[in-house]
Amino acid sequence: MNRSLLSFSIAFFFAATGYLNAQGLSQDIARLNVFELSKAPSSTSPEEDEEENEWNLSDSLYHIPSYELYRSWNNKRVHPYKFDLSKMSDTVMIALAVDSCSFVAPFIGRKTSDFGMRRYRHHYGVDIKVLTGDPILSAWEGVVRISHYDRDYGNVVVVRHNNGLESLYAHLSKRKVQCGDWVEAGDLVGLGGNTGRSTGSHLHFEVRYLGEPINPNEVIDFEHGLLCYDTLHLNQEHFEYLKELRAIKYHRIRQGDTLSGIARRYGTTVSALCRLNGIRPSTTLRIGRSIRYN
Ligand SMILES: [Zn+2]
Repeated sequence: MNRSLLSFSIAFFFAATGYLNAQGLSQDIARLNVFELSKAPSSTSPEEDEEENEWNLSDSLYHIPSYELYRSWNNKRVHPYKFDLSKMSDTVMIALAVDSCSFVAPFIGRKTSDFGMRRYRHHYGVDIKVLTGDPILSAWEGVVRISHYDRDYGNVVVVRHNNGLESLYAHLSKRKVQCGDWVEAGDLVGLGGNTGRSTGSHLHFEVRYLGEPINPNEVIDFEHGLLCYDTLHLNQEHFEYLKELRAIKYHRIRQGDTLSGIARRYGTTVSALCRLNGIRPSTTLRIGRSIRYN
């Protein structure tokens, strides 16, 4: 989205919500990162009452999508949350489509890797083949929470949506939004790429609720670029996989450790350890790395 369009859309958003009551604020708001919770945008002259600039809880509830749910807004860490949804007791209704403009597929392409166990680690998103430079779009409207470079995700953008979900777009060659930017469904968030821990350009796309990954295939039919449902009935079953994942135990390799020693210690065998970790009996154990034993 170009700057003037961005300013316009942000201005429109705040005007529409009754927030923008002074001329020329849109640029400030575009830059503001309001959402850092420190201070409200400077809409008054310095001599006016300082208190008017204090950013408070009701401002957060008003301007930050789903703040009533998350109660936090962190634009430094991709995964700052500590909710355990494997214990959730209720069904939560997530509005995926209020009208035909509510959703746009981030990119329509061939899925190259799915959500779930991939070799010996869990893959928390889906990978879609893209070419470097392909446009990657925000799935729903919301506010950009993260736009930075991460060692694993590469150039990564996370958007917090009004429906309570967060979506994540990784390995981008370029990011086209900044923290605090308002995006509509279908707005450009970045360009496809191969940055971070990635071999070959692809989009790694995640859908999370309160930080816990949901299988994106439960939400989006990637082949056709359509939603699976208008409303997602989110319940414990969506997070059942977390129980299995959390039951997996790891041993951190220390000096002097051998595969047979580790196998003896945990009542297993060298061949079972090799199978679980995709290694051979002759593989050199690296100190500090973790090895799965159950
Ligand atoms: Zn991936």
